[in-house]
Amino acid sequence: MSVAFLGLGNMGGPMAANLLAAGEKVTGYDPNPTARVEGIAVADSAAAAVKGADVVITMLPSGRHVLDCYREIVPAAAPGTLFLDCSTIEVTDARAAAELAAGHLALDAPVSGGVVGATAATLTFMVGGPSEAFIAAEPYLKTMGKKIVHCGETGAGQAAKICNNMILGVSMIAVSEAFALGRSLGLTDQALFDVASTASGQCWALTTNCPVPGPVPTSPANRDYTGGFASSLMLKDLRLAQAAAQAGGVPTALGAHAEELYAAFVEQDGSGRDFSAIITSLTKDGPA
Ligand code: NAD
Repeated sequence: MSVAFLGLGNMGGPMAANLLAAGEKVTGYDPNPTARVEGIAVADSAAAAVKGADVVITMLPSGRHVLDCYREIVPAAAPGTLFLDCSTIEVTDARAAAELAAGHLALDAPVSGGVVGATAATLTFMVGGPSEAFIAAEPYLKTMGKKIVHCGETGAGQAAKICNNMILGVSMIAVSEAFALGRSLGLTDQALFDVASTASGQCWALTTNCPVPGPVPTSPANRDYTGGFASSLMLKDLRLAQAAAQAGGVPTALGAHAEELYAAFVEQDGSGRDFSAIITSLTKDGPA
């Protein structure tokens, strides 16, 4: 079987490298000449990469990129090609992409786990689409990830992704506010962590990605918020969640407020910093 991998950026590059390392025949395409993977030949165009491929994987910045790309590549694909879009995009765009690929097998399969998970092949895949396509995709997903969840029909993978990340954005702000309040009451960060991490305030934002340096030595706060999940990507996901909430008339007051706070933080200077750096805009004096 041969795989066309379109989008060899921060995430797609290591994902494609893991497929190659597992023995798959991979052809790549990325218009950015610096986005390259050792050992993967790059075609002249997306359509050229797709010609003769059994599986087409896309890892692109946005829904617009995915739909433009599908309009170009679907006519070049052989009948019965498996299309796997791993980008994070709007649910409606995921459904439109699957429609463009009608007659083929198509899935939305966004990921969580970041560049670290993409490199270590420990990503979580949230998958939407028909069972027949899911069964065909499973071996590839298992090569690139650790946990694979079939969430439902087309769009369900993107739905799970934006709901999860809305929880994450809101909970990171809640944890940050708790540290700020704790400090003002004379609590040390460590004391609050020791209690909340084993009490009902426990959550991933606290125990794995703790926004203050000290309690969790591996969290980005210990390296000036570098090398994590960029605030600009958190803002992107919160915006996708709000777009879906508004379209469906679902009240998400905290999700909406989290989007506003991340938009302001990204506007200041937070764009490339880990999303836990939001604490520096919520506290008077930043982290201790
Ligand atoms: P990136 O910008 O590093 O990579 C995207 C690549 O797509 C770029 O190299 C770009 O040149 C390429 N591209 C654009 N149009 C193309 C086309 N028509 N054909 C082929 N390549 C094309 O972005 P990334 O960080 O790798 O993120 C990719 C997706 O994964 C995004 O949707 C993002 O939201 C999602 N995501 C990212 C992370 C993360 O931590 N970086 C985590 C989870 C999900």
